[in-house]
Amino acid sequence: MPRKLTTFAEKVASEKQIMYCPKCGGAMEPLLYIDCEETGKGFWKFKERHVKVCKCNHDQYYNK
Ligand SMILES: [Zn+2]
Repeated sequence: MPRKLTTFAEKVASEKQIMYCPKCGGAMEPLLYIDCEETGKGFWKFKERHVKVCKCNHDQYYNK
């Protein structure tokens, strides 16, 4: 019996666990969000954060 091969799409789908927001019920997309923070003297610090974005917090990350 040949073993059932997992297609690339199936592999990706299983690795990317889709999360659904309990508030709006929409799919939450993973996003790498970069926060800029001025540390003074004209220096900026960048903080990378992995966030999940849905309708509830979309504006928070995209309308800055
Ligand atoms: Zn939501």
